[in-house]
Amino acid sequence: MQSFTYHAPTSISEALQLFAKCEGTIALLAGGTDILVQLRENHRQADHVIDVKHIPELHRLGCDPTQGLVLGAAVTCSQVLHSDATQDYSALRDSAQIIGGWQIQTRASIGGNLCNSSPAADSVPSLIALGAEVDYATLEGRQTIPVREFCTGPGTNILNRRGLLIGMHLPPVGARSGSAYERFIPRYEMDIAVACAASYVELDNDGTISAVRIALGAVGPKAIGCPEAANLLVGKAADDELIQKVADQAATMASPINDMRGTIEFREHLASVLVKRTLQTALRRAAGEVIVSHPH
Ligand SMILES: Cc1cc2nc3c(=O)[nH]c(=O)nc-3n(C[C@H](O)[C@H](O)[C@H](O)COP(=O)(O)OP(=O)(O)OC[C@H]3O[C@@H](n4cnc5c(N)ncnc54)[C@H](O)[C@@H]3O)c2cc1C
Repeated sequence: MQSFTYHAPTSISEALQLFAKCEGTIALLAGGTDILVQLRENHRQADHVIDVKHIPELHRLGCDPTQGLVLGAAVTCSQVLHSDATQDYSALRDSAQIIGGWQIQTRASIGGNLCNSSPAADSVPSLIALGAEVDYATLEGRQTIPVREFCTGPGTNILNRRGLLIGMHLPPVGARSGSAYERFIPRYEMDIAVACAASYVELDNDGTISAVRIALGAVGPKAIGCPEAANLLVGKAADDELIQKVADQAATMASPINDMRGTIEFREHLASVLVKRTLQTALRRAAGEVIVSHPH
């Protein structure tokens, strides 16, 4: 492992000054569950490691009815799972629950999961389905963009290693709403998704669906939203036939690859199955049923 200089800034401006000052390659560190492995195995090089955990703004976690959920970039999966602030954001809890095991969850942040930008990252479809926006800072200033625009390909994102993710904003959920995330892995746990999906639904008083968002992961170079498929449900009362049609339509957005964990055909099939399941769970949650996050 290459030796590096460790920095622990305590403010966003101090972190940004380091970007201007440090010569050579820079890596940011939150929980370290991705970056330390990559550095140790020489998959990444860094002359400077900037630890973002000492910046208070990156630990914000709170929810109110007008602003929705504020999630600082360094908030851990474990904090997401145990905070009352996230109780209406079930898909995010489903994701946090299956990232690694509980030891990993106490270190791993949702921000790190997003910035690692793996196509199979478990939090990203949920963030897309929940309509998250991302706040980040570079030497040019602060910006907010929809989370679906953040990742640009496998392992790459809009920061281009020259910026700092500050956090995410998830809009308030509807009074009768539900969301869910599921992935397929060949083992019970500790594996990465062969395909994954998240859905969010909001119901009107008469039970018809007033808003839907669907997202897919691990079936292309980055997680994607499926707005055309989601729109098929708006204004309708969901039944099995319609849900299947929507799931099949969402799966047409997939552009998977063949690899040792799954063929293109298998992943397209999984995309449809997982969208169907997450829609069904989201609808049941919207109707008030308590369904605890699936353990894998
Ligand atoms: C045993 C094990 C099991 C795992 N299981 C899963 C799993 O099931 N599902 C899954 O999705 N992942 C899994 N992971 C990967 C990893 O745990 C997650 O991606 C985790 O959420 C990363 O968060 P972190 O805080 O540890 O990020 P770090 O490792 O600290 O950082 C990850 C990346 O984000 C960058 N970064 C971090 N914070 C910022 C910031 N504020 N601004 C800009 N860039 C930043 C880093 O430079 C790095 O490139 C697993 C890892 C291990 C070791």
